[in-house]
Amino acid sequence: MAVLVTGGAGYIGSHVGHALLDRGEQVVVLDNLSTGNRACVGEDAVFVEGDIADDSLVGSLLRHHAIRSVLHFAGSIVVPESVADPLGYYENNVVRSRALIQACVGAGVEHFIFSSTATVYDAEAPQPLAEDERKAPISPYARSKLMTEWMLEDVSRAHPMRHMVLRYFNVAGADPQGRTGQSSPRATHLIKRAAQVALGRVPQLDIFGTDYPTADGTGVRDYIHVADLAAAHLLALDALRAGAPSAVYNCGYGRGLSVRDVISGVERVIGGRLAVLESARRPGDPPVLISDPSRIKRALGWTPRHDDLDEIVRSAIDWERRFNTG
Ligand code: UDP
Repeated sequence: MAVLVTGGAGYIGSHVGHALLDRGEQVVVLDNLSTGNRACVGEDAVFVEGDIADDSLVGSLLRHHAIRSVLHFAGSIVVPESVADPLGYYENNVVRSRALIQACVGAGVEHFIFSSTATVYDAEAPQPLAEDERKAPISPYARSKLMTEWMLEDVSRAHPMRHMVLRYFNVAGADPQGRTGQSSPRATHLIKRAAQVALGRVPQLDIFGTDYPTADGTGVRDYIHVADLAAAHLLALDALRAGAPSAVYNCGYGRGLSVRDVISGVERVIGGRLAVLESARRPGDPPVLISDPSRIKRALGWTPRHDDLDEIVRSAIDWERRFNTG
């Protein structure tokens, strides 16, 4: 009985795919390769290039492989792009998720795990953010994620399919075995950019804002190693298989690091200085985003094993060196 991983050629989906294969699961990856990287998919997975909204394809995959569990990573994730193209984002993230969910309900899928985001929360709410904290998604990207969460909530009341929503904080780093990593050439994330600067592929790192109301004036985030995030998905799957009810979980370590903390970490790892440029704030960036991960620790027994900035940075640089995306 295989597990379907949509977006399994992408950054997080490919890590979860490897983690599933590592423990002997049969994995079917469905990815349209619009941003994914085929080389990041584990060799033992069945790879299907196609669209999550292609219901005849999805329906036949679900039936052919007797799939009971779906992990849904496919989607668009670039916040400024979503502001410029809201309809494209609602199409990709909401309309196509709806089609996938419908195909899953139709084929009797029992478990559905969905990638959501910390940006569904009101960033002005008190930190750290617990799952029940008020929501105020600002970007079309964040709204598209919350809409899909709501869709799943409604579906789980009407149909036997149970789900888990995982709200990711700042995911970083790469597979400790070097099999996959962040491959998008357009990545804008801090640790990815810092790794590119460390290798001399980008001349300098911009610090977006030095006047935030934080200890050192730079933005604070809760960076989580992608390997710990992958482990959270496996625990969510195990819990659903064991009969757990639908639930929402934060995925973060519950501690904040500033942009300057990250820069110091990179400098420690490379044993040298990083070229940085203090720049203006990036529009829409909240000062602080930190998770309260108590629920996932308590309910799923999730225990971080890679909660170490230097390890995160080292794995990101190792991947960047291996995978030259420029
Ligand atoms: N950031 C930065 N320089 C960069 C990229 C990001 O100073 O080149 C800052 C950004 O303003 C935020 C933090 O780093 O405070 C994390 O940003 P990232 O884009 O990694 O993730 P986000 O929190 O926006 O999803």
